[in-house]
Amino acid sequence: MNISNKIMLITYPDSMGGNLESLNHALNTSFKGAVGGVHILPFFPSSGDRGFSPVTYDMVEPAFGDWSHIGTLSENYYLMCDMMVNHVSKRSREFLDYMERGDESPYKDLFLDYAKFWGEGKPDEHDIQILYRRKDGEPYQDFIRKDGKKVRLWCTFTQEQIDLDIRTNATKEYLKNSFHFLASKGINVIRLDALGYAVKKRETSCFMVEPDIWDFIKEVNSMAGDSVWLLPEIHDTWQTAKKLEKNQIWSYDFVLPFLMLHSLYSGDTESLKGWLDVAPRTQFTVLDTHDGIGVYDAFDWVNEGEAEELITRLEDRLSYSYKPLNPEKKRFKKAYQLYTTYFSALHENEKAYLLARAVQFFAPGIPQVYYVGMLAGENDYEELQKNDDHRSINRHNYSVSELEACAKKDVVKKLTALMRFRNTCEAFDGDLSVTIPAPGMLRMVRTGTKERAELLCNFKTYEFSIQYTEQGILRQLTL
Ligand code: BGC
Repeated sequence: MNISNKIMLITYPDSMGGNLESLNHALNTSFKGAVGGVHILPFFPSSGDRGFSPVTYDMVEPAFGDWSHIGTLSENYYLMCDMMVNHVSKRSREFLDYMERGDESPYKDLFLDYAKFWGEGKPDEHDIQILYRRKDGEPYQDFIRKDGKKVRLWCTFTQEQIDLDIRTNATKEYLKNSFHFLASKGINVIRLDALGYAVKKRETSCFMVEPDIWDFIKEVNSMAGDSVWLLPEIHDTWQTAKKLEKNQIWSYDFVLPFLMLHSLYSGDTESLKGWLDVAPRTQFTVLDTHDGIGVYDAFDWVNEGEAEELITRLEDRLSYSYKPLNPEKKRFKKAYQLYTTYFSALHENEKAYLLARAVQFFAPGIPQVYYVGMLAGENDYEELQKNDDHRSINRHNYSVSELEACAKKDVVKKLTALMRFRNTCEAFDGDLSVTIPAPGMLRMVRTGTKERAELLCNFKTYEFSIQYTEQGILRQLTL
């Protein structure tokens, strides 16, 4: 199955009915035609971070299914999966072997020795201060190997995820083998998870270290060859996405989610138009993912005052205000991502939600829709009570009967119809032009070689209409 300009669903392997088989069933029945591709979030055995702490890429976690289920999905949908290029589980064969055999282990160079990396007397306060960190304290973990030697290893994320030393041949081999193996299993796109953290260098923030990161991206692309497409996952300012475009590498549009909320809450479409005009054409658009809505990503397009005002209006829907883990991250400058479902971020306003999706589908690139978004899911406060991860507010697992009930909701039926339209109308193979016919309005026109589609929306009333041609005949989309 080749990658096509059709909506890609993002889902956990067990979120739609409990496993890969039920996912396939849902896509082939209630949601038939709504998606052309699927990003299956990590389906490998993992020791934490809901799959992002991979123990191995060789197998499918048995609770989700096996390779035959991936094979079946790949017959009808183009598939994307994750490769954690920055880290691996401390329960992986490689890490356990290193602990067991120490310097005799063939995997010893896979991990990044913190002490060796920094050198004598380092890191000092300055080094730590400039480090782009994802947690409090220094990003390392101490281990005692079986031979009694104490090692300090780099650990950017949770205690389960041990960083890889991407400079070594051992890691390069590991990455290359994994790319080819996954491609052989029917995967078309590999998402390079947390790529910005992979390159570390002294005297830098160790995040998006230039020019090294570009060399690394080129290197992994040549490792993957033609077998599979690579999609870097980087939360940074929009300039990074433009650089990816310049290097002919696809990117995510992480500006759109927060900017769209800004437009919907303020009724102002100027910034949104500005971004749509310059956004990379080689991108996957999102409104929601399994992570939060990026705030920093929209820097420059939503100014600080506007962002603060917006966050205040959303505060009652955000998981950090519901259960504060990092209260200091509340305000714009420090807010990294907002944790809420997209539907709840719009205070469950169906008209506003459908308008947001329509704009996303007309935006340049290939749209992705997160499963909670496809089901117009509301915040899951119950799940949030059960664990410490704020993101669980937007990670509800739907049973088969819940899925069936969702498919009958008016807003879901309308969204599914909109998704089917996006997947079949040929106008979307053409470019986009955006205008503001009057304050608070937005007109988006896609002109393909044969067909044309036009979206006209009002960000103050949330009314919108879609006109399109089919074999040259003008039609109106009714949802
Ligand atoms: C993923 C997150 C994950 C982190 C560490 C990312 O950016 O999207 O869900 O927690 O990488 O793997």
